[in-house]
Amino acid sequence: MVATIILILWDITTQNTDAIVNAANSTLLWWWGVDGAIHRAGWPMILQACQNITRIEYPKGLPTGEAVATVWWNLPAKRVIHTVGPRFSDYKNDDRKDDLFHCYENSLKIALDHGIKTISFPSISTGAYGCPIEECSKIAVETVRGFVELYPEIEEVRFVLFSNKDYWVYQKLI
Ligand code: ADP
Repeated sequence: MVATIILILWDITTQNTDAIVNAANSTLLWWWGVDGAIHRAGWPMILQACQNITRIEYPKGLPTGEAVATVWWNLPAKRVIHTVGPRFSDYKNDDRKDDLFHCYENSLKIALDHGIKTISFPSISTGAYGCPIEECSKIAVETVRGFVELYPEIEEVRFVLFSNKDYWVYQKLI
């Protein structure tokens, strides 16, 4: 059966899916937005796990579009998948779309590798990274739909939005 895709208007750190996705920056350190909420909720273990990853595997930072997983402490989800979205101002052309596609796809691939069946995504790149939500939401929904059609192991995907405006943009697509 193909996964259920649902929309939630709430804080992603409260979601009880097997994994939640973090819209991280390349250092995987504490920042604002989703990143800040996740680090605050998982303090200090999540930060230490991220520091280990960047020190050992990605000393130059996690590249845009890539994703890595850490375990999760204290809260409902078992894992956090950190992915780095494109920052609008870094691009002179449409390449940001490919990078955003890879964020969703690589996060879902990691989910499969870890036997994750349910996963929550924030609206990657549409906060501090400044990408237009109309464009990003289409990429998010199309990429997730395409992936779950191929991999029925994923049973549920939630898009967790943090404002009414963002929620309604996604609502038009779902
Ligand atoms: P990026 O740097 O990739 O743009 P941000 O964290 O700045 O990531 O923002 C991405 C989106 O996540 C924004 O729409 C923002 O409003 C939203 N957001 C911020 N905090 C949370 C949260 N706790 N749960 C879900 N979404 C959130």
